[in-house]
Amino acid sequence: MLYLVPTPIGNLEDITFRAISIMNSCDVILSEDTRTSGKLLKHFNISKPLWQFHAFNEHKALKGIIDHLKQGKNIVLNSDAGTPGISDPGYLLVRECINQGIKISCLPGPTAFVPALVCSGMTTDKFYFEGFLPHKKGRQTRWKYLSTLDITIILYESPYRLIKCLEEAREYLGAERKVCVAREISKIYEEFITLKVSESIEYYTNHLPKGEIVIVFEGKSSQNKINYERDSEAN
Ligand code: SAM
Repeated sequence: MLYLVPTPIGNLEDITFRAISIMNSCDVILSEDTRTSGKLLKHFNISKPLWQFHAFNEHKALKGIIDHLKQGKNIVLNSDAGTPGISDPGYLLVRECINQGIKISCLPGPTAFVPALVCSGMTTDKFYFEGFLPHKKGRQTRWKYLSTLDITIILYESPYRLIKCLEEAREYLGAERKVCVAREISKIYEEFITLKVSESIEYYTNHLPKGEIVIVFEGKSSQNKINYERDSEAN
């Protein structure tokens, strides 16, 4: 069986009892970076063979992993942090397991976009997860698409590209659109700052962002939508 096991994105206490138990009882752990996973496993006193599984060897490694699963081995897939398969490798392996009739399970656990969404103050009933925008080719097309959405939008971004991203948001979503920059979730300097896009550009130009970031935008005219829903309830 293949288990996708989420690992902490900040505080190590965010690991679940079940994650530790599954990692302790499996045969092999697949990890994006064996040094990062090695440190985590050492912290939890888990000693298991570690195999590399990352974006650059995902296709090549697939057959060997499937063979082991077919021999009855239990394999865990970790990513560096958070839930495997969410802006991280995992999808190809899951799809192949499904095709081959191999059982899979994903443990519930840490992922960066959920706390960012929940603490953003944006509507959480409907949202769109974009993950990382492409760096060059296709970026404009994605922004044009995002500008059509009337639901909350979530992006992963590097702190080095935050201001560029906010400037693009000003162009495609408008200066008045609300944005929350969720930074260093589950770490000492965790913060969630919600401002208008134009204010956010000014703020982060004066306070250079550091650490890991999730950006949450309100959807197009979501305020009107809320009022409309309230009005229709009142009627
Ligand atoms: N698999 C991960 C998950 O479940 O969220 C995402 C992995 S992706 C390669 C890494 C990106 O997730 C970072 O660039 C950042 O946008 C976001 N991220 C991860 N940890 C974070 C944290 N502690 N605070 C804010 N964002 C974080």
